Amino acid sequence: MNKKPLNNHHRVGIIGGGFGGLAAALHLNASRFRVSLFDHKKKFDWLPNIHELVSGMKRESDLQFSLERRLSQLGHTFCNESVTSLDSEKKEVVTEQGKTYQFDFLIVSVGGVNNTFGVKDADKYTLPFKSVGDCARIRDRLIEVAGRAKNPKIGIIGGGLEGVEVLGEILRAYKTRYNISVTLVASSSRLLVIAPEAVANRLQHYCNINDVDLRLKRKVTEVCPEGIVLDNGETLDLDVIIWTGGGTAPPLLHNSGLAGDAESWVRVNEWLESTQFENVFVVGDAAVLPEPVDKQAYHALDMGKLAAKNIIRLTNDLPKLPFKPTKKPFLLTFGKIDTFMIFGEKVVSGPLMSIAKELVFQMIMRQLEGTRSFDSLENALKRVSSFSKVLTRNRLLRRMLSSLFNKTH
Ligand SMILES: Cc1cc2nc3c(=O)[nH]c(=O)nc-3n(C[C@H](O)[C@H](O)[C@H](O)COP(=O)(O)OP(=O)(O)OC[C@H]3O[C@@H](n4cnc5c(N)ncnc54)[C@H](O)[C@@H]3O)c2cc1C
Repeated sequence: MNKKPLNNHHRVGIIGGGFGGLAAALHLNASRFRVSLFDHKKKFDWLPNIHELVSGMKRESDLQFSLERRLSQLGHTFCNESVTSLDSEKKEVVTEQGKTYQFDFLIVSVGGVNNTFGVKDADKYTLPFKSVGDCARIRDRLIEVAGRAKNPKIGIIGGGLEGVEVLGEILRAYKTRYNISVTLVASSSRLLVIAPEAVANRLQHYCNINDVDLRLKRKVTEVCPEGIVLDNGETLDLDVIIWTGGGTAPPLLHNSGLAGDAESWVRVNEWLESTQFENVFVVGDAAVLPEPVDKQAYHALDMGKLAAKNIIRLTNDLPKLPFKPTKKPFLLTFGKIDTFMIFGEKVVSGPLMSIAKELVFQMIMRQLEGTRSFDSLENALKRVSSFSKVLTRNRLLRRMLSSLFNKTH
């Protein structure tokens, strides 16, 4: 990317090979653009199903594919390097290896990093829940502890989507088999504040009947090798502590001048451009739009596609297009106990709904990877006959599913 090629391809640098960055790469044609995508990970991670690694329902290979292979299929370049700084004025990125690359356009899609909110030693003694690698480590640790302790004690910090989904998987795979005790700590007054209260009530009921020790309106103040200390002074002994407390902005955003301070995400305009620097687009979780949207994979995919489209339009002297978020239901699984499809205040639930989540995963993963086989899709479809009976009876469910399966990119 250092020299502008003779055939005058426009040089596009993409930082981050997650949902937003990969979607952008998929929509830029190598015949017109010289695209280089940077990521310190070698593989794309499908994050919405990583909780299933914990129970063994999925393996790492189900949720990952090689970025190198996918990028080269597209005629693009994959740089397995971490970007440590970028000069948006000079249009340069510098990587950990000290290499400098120049670009005409840049798309930043670096997602977020684990946030332990400054809780003492949380970084040291808890297991983060932010990647395929993280969840594989949690699974290995659970298996190890379950094999040696008589009554393993598992702690989950955080009562949001991630905390609830990992709890469901732990109940699925370990509860009866290994006689484990599970404690979930959340600072909110109920589980899953982003969902209607009825969902939280149902989840809390499942917690009660499965003897989950729910500590709501409680904060962790300190973590030690043996467990956690709560804000009421109580100490809980735990063998495994899973931290699902949330995400924060990666340091690169502030260091590069894209974000105002260390904890801020990047403000973008309606065309997804940085409000500070020309020809720099920011997409996915890192971007804050004038009308903010949830940090969700389907928005990241749509934003990545639009950033690519706007670059194409700029090079064709066409006006840029604004980002118009699509509203989609979100799907929450609670192990084998239940699955919820939530669309605003509307909720449809039942274990069979897990098929919808599996279908979303299979369809979009296949589009992103380009080569995925239909094997597991067929497995999911085997359950469809009973699902179709539910579907014919339920108009709301049909409406939700049709918006869910509207193409995301
Ligand atoms: C556990 C979990 C469950 C989720 N469940 C759902 C769900 O059910 N539905 C849904 O829609 N969304 C879900 N999300 C949210 C969704 O995954 C994110 O919104 C989406 O991944 C954001 O895409 P992105 O491209 O912004 O970032 P990411 O997909 O996180 O990609 C960022 C990439 O940038 C790379 N990177 C970061 N910094 C650098 C650097 N300096 N140099 C090089 N590379 C760098 C990272 O390695 C990573 O590959 C979930 C997220 C998590 C963590």
